[in-house]
Formats: sequence, C-alpha cells, structure tokens
Amino acid sequence: MINLLDLDKEQMKALFGDRPYRGGQIFRWVFGRAAGVLGEMTDIPKRLREDVAKICTISYPEVADSQESSDGTQKIAYRLSDGRIIESVLIPEKDHWSICVSSQVGCAMGCRFCFTATMGFIRNLEVSEIVSQVLHPLRTYPERSFRNIVFMGMGEPLLNYNNVNKAVRILTDVDGPQFSKRRITVSTCGIVPRLKRLSQDTEAALAVSLNAADNAVRQRIMPITRKYPLTDLMEALRAYQLPNRRRITIEYVLIRGVNDSPKDVRELIRILHGLKAKVNLIPFNPWPGCEFQAPDQRAVLAFEEHLKNSPYTVMLRKEKGTDILAACGQLAGGVIHDGQGIDRFFAESAKLSGKAEEHSSHTDPHILGVHRR
Ligand code: SAH
Repeated sequence: MINLLDLDKEQMKALFGDRPYRGGQIFRWVFGRAAGVLGEMTDIPKRLREDVAKICTISYPEVADSQESSDGTQKIAYRLSDGRIIESVLIPEKDHWSICVSSQVGCAMGCRFCFTATMGFIRNLEVSEIVSQVLHPLRTYPERSFRNIVFMGMGEPLLNYNNVNKAVRILTDVDGPQFSKRRITVSTCGIVPRLKRLSQDTEAALAVSLNAADNAVRQRIMPITRKYPLTDLMEALRAYQLPNRRRITIEYVLIRGVNDSPKDVRELIRILHGLKAKVNLIPFNPWPGCEFQAPDQRAVLAFEEHLKNSPYTVMLRKEKGTDILAACGQLAGGVIHDGQGIDRFFAESAKLSGKAEEHSSHTDPHILGVHRR
C-alpha cells in the first residue's frame, strides 16, 4: 500500500498517468485540507476514489499520548507503524503556535547533554511520519494558528536529508499547508558536507547547535566535532548562501562550568566574526541521569549582557514545557520504558523541574502506560 502522505505533488500526479490533474486534486485534499480519508474528496468521482483506495491509504501515526505543560506547551507522543514512539511539541507563542518536529527515531550524534542521545539511533522517519507531525495538529486544532515549524525534536535532520527536504517541499507547497519557507527552521549539529547542499536545495531557515566556541570543549560535549572540527563548521557557515537579510541562528546551550564563563562568551563573539548570525541562548535543561547542571542565573545574564554589547542579536530562550520533559533536549519517548521504573522516572523529572505537585497528575498509570511497550 502507498501512503499518500509520503508523496509530493509530482509523485501524486505521476500516479494518475495521463490525468495528472487528478493527482493535483488529491494532493490538495491530503495536504491542503488535511483530509483523513478518501471518502472526503467529494470532487473526485467515486469510482476513481475506489480505484485509488485499492493501492493507497492515508495513514497517520496513532497518538500514543498527549500532555500539557502548565505553560500551555503540549507534547504529543506518536506511535509509528512499527511501534516506535516519537515526540513533537506544540509551543504557544503570543499570537501563533510553533511546532517542533522530530526527524529520526533516536539520534546517532551522542551529544552528552541531550536526552534524545541516550536512545541511540533507531531509524530515519519517513516523509509521512514527518509531515503528520504538522498535519495532525492542523486537523485537530483548527482554531490555532500554526505558523512556525522547527526541526528541533528528536534526531539530526541533515542525516535524514532527503526525507526532511521533501517534507519541507510538501509543507511549503502552495497546494499544501502553505507554510512560509522562512518559517521553517532546520536545526543541525553541523553535518558540514550537507550544509552546502541544504542552501542549494531549500530556502528554509538554518539553525546550528554550536554550544561551544572552543574545539576541545565542543568535542567533549558534541562528539560529532571529532569528525567535523569547529574551524570546518565555521568555514561552511561563512560560505552558506543566505537569502537577503536572513541570518543563521546559532544555538548555544549554557551548561554550568562547561561553556558559561566570560571567557567562553568572548571566544564565541570572536569565532562568529563575519557571520550573519543571531544567537539563541538556551539554559541547559536537566534530565534524569545527566552529568551536567543548569547554569547559574547570574552566569546566564552575564553571558547575555556580553552578547548584547556585540554585533549579534541575542535571544534568551525562555524554556517551555520543562515540567513535562518537552523542552530542548528532553525528548526521548522511546526510552521511557527501559525498565528503570516509570514512576521513579517521573518523580525524578518532577524534582528536576521543581514541579513535583503539578506533576503528580502525570503519574497516572493510565496515561503513562502508553510509554511502555
Ligand atoms: N540534531 C539537531 C536537532 C535537535 S535540536 C541539532 O542538534 O540541532 C535540539 C536543540 O536542543 C539543540 O540546539 C541542542 O543543542 C539543544 N539541547 C539538547 N539537549 C539540551 C538540554 N538538555 N537542554 C537544553 N538544550 C538542549
């Protein structure tokens, strides 16, 4: 069976041979209006719909769990057809919503501060599994205005390059959900050889998880640095073709005693020289069993202040969804069932986020049960 959610417009047209306009119509139903079943497609003859149904389905992953944070952030766990779990986060902003999507089940990059890394790499997501993370919220919450998509969930998007690129194409298609290219951000830990290709293939915005301005420090917390040293990464970023007036987002997770000193910020400003960039500071979010600690509030403010006096715009990311482990680097739905005991896990994460009481509702075994295989 073909899942129509895996096909771009050209492929859908090709499916109909000498009647490509029928493919165009179906594309509009599937992606433009997020139709869930062929039966909804009223302008397509019933006979044709029946023929399509013989070889095609519209198959969404099942929602395994949905949790809402006290700040309105919502984490959705999807169960894929092979039983694997991935997570997406819906983030309320002032006048719109952002969707943070996963690109892989698990991740191979092994960043020491990231919870997803503890899962290891399991597999790449199919195009349908990526676009569903956007289409499902569009269908389910028609009253919300979803405007931004960030590939900052589980996985390294540039290591699932073709599917991520195709998903971006579908999500920005004028006959699809019509997201603006500039409102889709692909975030990478810095897969240097793929960066050039990305700037040629898409106009999506780029974010890079830099996290350290010193090669030795970065190597310690991000093993990928061994393969692509900081100097190579910075060179690739300088060469990155940006549309007019666009900038690269530099993400910097502040970790206590690791990369949060005045020397670190001076070094950061130095290596950013000549780059069209803005800096997104993310105070480290702890997770159960991690070796690092959140930075001191004063260190965060000093770091931010220093950057404010540099040529770079700086944004201090206000963390959302920490009480449900939905913040940056806290997604790992797939490891929650690792036999350590679900209650202990949630007790620990509640302690970490300082929201033990609010959290008790999440220890309802009925809700948590879905995390177990
Ligand atoms: N692999 C891609 C996409 C994941 S984005 C990338 O590395 O960019 C996830 C973002 O969250 C990255 O910027 C990462 O540096 C950050 N992050 C990971 N773990 C974190 C944690 N525990 N606290 C705060 N930010 C974290």
